[in-house]
Amino acid sequence: MTKRKNFAGILYLLLLILLAAWMFGLFDTPDDGLTYSDVVALIETEQVESFVLEGDTLTLNLRKKHPQLEKTKLTATIAYPESFMEEIRDTVRAQKEAGTLKDYQYLPKEEVSPYSYVLPIILAGLVLIVVWVILAGRANRGNPMADFGKARTIQGQPGKKVTFEQVAGMDEEKEELCEVVDFLRSPEKYTKMGAKIPHGILLAGPPGTGKTLLAKAVAGEADVQFLSISGSDFMEMYVGVGASRVRDLFTQAKRVAPSIIFIDEIDAVGRKRGSGMGGGHDEREQTLNQLLVEMDGFNRSEGVIVLAATNRPDILDPALLRPGRFDRQIHVNRPDVKGRHEILLVHAKDKSLDETVDLKTVAKATSGFTGADLSNLLNEAAILAARKNCPALSMKDLDEAMMKIMAGPEKRSRVKSRRDLKTTAIHEAGHAVAMYCLPTQEEVRHITIIPRGRSLGATWHMPKDDSTNLTRNEMYEEIVSLLGGRVAEALYIGDISVGASNDIDRATALARDMVARYGMCESLGTVSYISDDEIFVGRDFEKTKGYSEKVAGTIDDEVKALIDKAYDHCRTILTENNEKMKQVVTFLLEHESMSGKQFAQCMEGQPIEEASEIVMFDSEETE
Ligand code: ADP
Ligand code: ZN
Repeated sequence: MTKRKNFAGILYLLLLILLAAWMFGLFDTPDDGLTYSDVVALIETEQVESFVLEGDTLTLNLRKKHPQLEKTKLTATIAYPESFMEEIRDTVRAQKEAGTLKDYQYLPKEEVSPYSYVLPIILAGLVLIVVWVILAGRANRGNPMADFGKARTIQGQPGKKVTFEQVAGMDEEKEELCEVVDFLRSPEKYTKMGAKIPHGILLAGPPGTGKTLLAKAVAGEADVQFLSISGSDFMEMYVGVGASRVRDLFTQAKRVAPSIIFIDEIDAVGRKRGSGMGGGHDEREQTLNQLLVEMDGFNRSEGVIVLAATNRPDILDPALLRPGRFDRQIHVNRPDVKGRHEILLVHAKDKSLDETVDLKTVAKATSGFTGADLSNLLNEAAILAARKNCPALSMKDLDEAMMKIMAGPEKRSRVKSRRDLKTTAIHEAGHAVAMYCLPTQEEVRHITIIPRGRSLGATWHMPKDDSTNLTRNEMYEEIVSLLGGRVAEALYIGDISVGASNDIDRATALARDMVARYGMCESLGTVSYISDDEIFVGRDFEKTKGYSEKVAGTIDDEVKALIDKAYDHCRTILTENNEKMKQVVTFLLEHESMSGKQFAQCMEGQPIEEASEIVMFDSEETE
């Protein structure tokens, strides 16, 4: 605010200076610096076409540009206009008669009325007053600086209310929130009974799983105001702004109560205090403290409920999770098959699908997808259909959209040499065959040697079910299948390429995790040397290397041993399936891609059918 006033003051001062300058005649017509004799000479040498002498100001119009001043219109000040006119009278008369001087005028200065001085001053004063009033008014109304500490909120979007119906799946989560909705609808019922409704609920789950949607739906169902802010909005360069935003947010919420405050990405402010590098997070701590104060400060009858979302509940400050604050957590997980099917149905409602589309198949083939991913998938498919001017979207569009999402658009124009194609085919066949022969590995859905996005070729696979807990054997076999590409290159080309570098990075990371994080190797025992916190370089910096040099050496040795074992295992598999490998490579070189079904037929020694149109959603099993 003070800044704003200073600004107005400066403007005001500037105006005053301008006014003074004007009054002291600084803005009078500029003098071209001609002397009296210059002017007389100009007139006598017939260079002047016309002139006006008004008071003591002489304006000359020359026939040609003045050689030095380079213009035709000149002004000069004549100290004694009367005598000047006297001196040139005969000359100008003669010139006028001869026609060389077209016109001249002499307007002697009139008696100056006292008003001619007063009037401009009055006018200027008026202007100043008007400007002042406008500026003052502006300062009081919402100017950007005055809004500084205010929370940016979305309030009850009229006409676009989200209801539980729009949130598909998540039956348990919705059920848990039902009592919150009921409380917001009729808080008296609960307060009369002395029942305590939690006023802070933490929604924890990966991004895109519908946490924001759920919070909005709670507000929509209860028909209350929804105030939302993101944790990162609190983090400003200016110290104290975050805390004042928190205060403001809660004041607003109480004013419009019953209401819901939704804090997205609460981990941005709510991370454990004393973590983070280099200290200097005073601002964040202040904000967090203010949040804690506000959470404690309001009582339950006020009808304000705070929902917060995070995908890292484990890094939140324990103080936030204490009773009376966010003492209830709802885990929002990635949807299972049934959930995915329901989400697809919700998002398909406003799109026209043709009869080829089977959303159940899509749901089955998209394990790991979040609600946001599924909505995006349908949207991409709709865009593809629209581009082709189709009235409805088909399974083919969904298929294409799926590929696009998973690997970027096809890049057929990136011409590859025959040799490159062969390398890629061998590499991908290696992955696929290894995956096929490993019992825990996922089903191969599609193999291609057409470049897409940044990769040269790809072998797509999908988990058979929704399990998320990896076992030691699964992790080991994943390493084996990751090495498939490199092993195949070594076996069939006798040389290795850089195409496998990403595979090797991933295999190494996985092996390292097994050894040092999950305690999955004998010599080191069930000890975790890397903790999840490390990602945030948080807590105590030294703790990251909580093991000795000796252990570090052992970890490296164990990782190498594990990779070597997997490599040998992979080589055995590929050598045993030598014939199949060759068949897959030949097929790929001929057709560029192979569906999961065709690959399975090849591996089982059956004749390979014609490829169907649908690639990603072409599944063997039917119900
Ligand atoms: P988060 O807050 O968890 O990151 P959002 O609530 O912003 O996720 O979800 C993003 C989008 O994903 C939503 O706008 C919605 O279109 C879609 N979505 C996510 N989950 C669901 C669901 N269960 N039902 C319907 N749509 C969903
Ligand atoms: Zn690879």
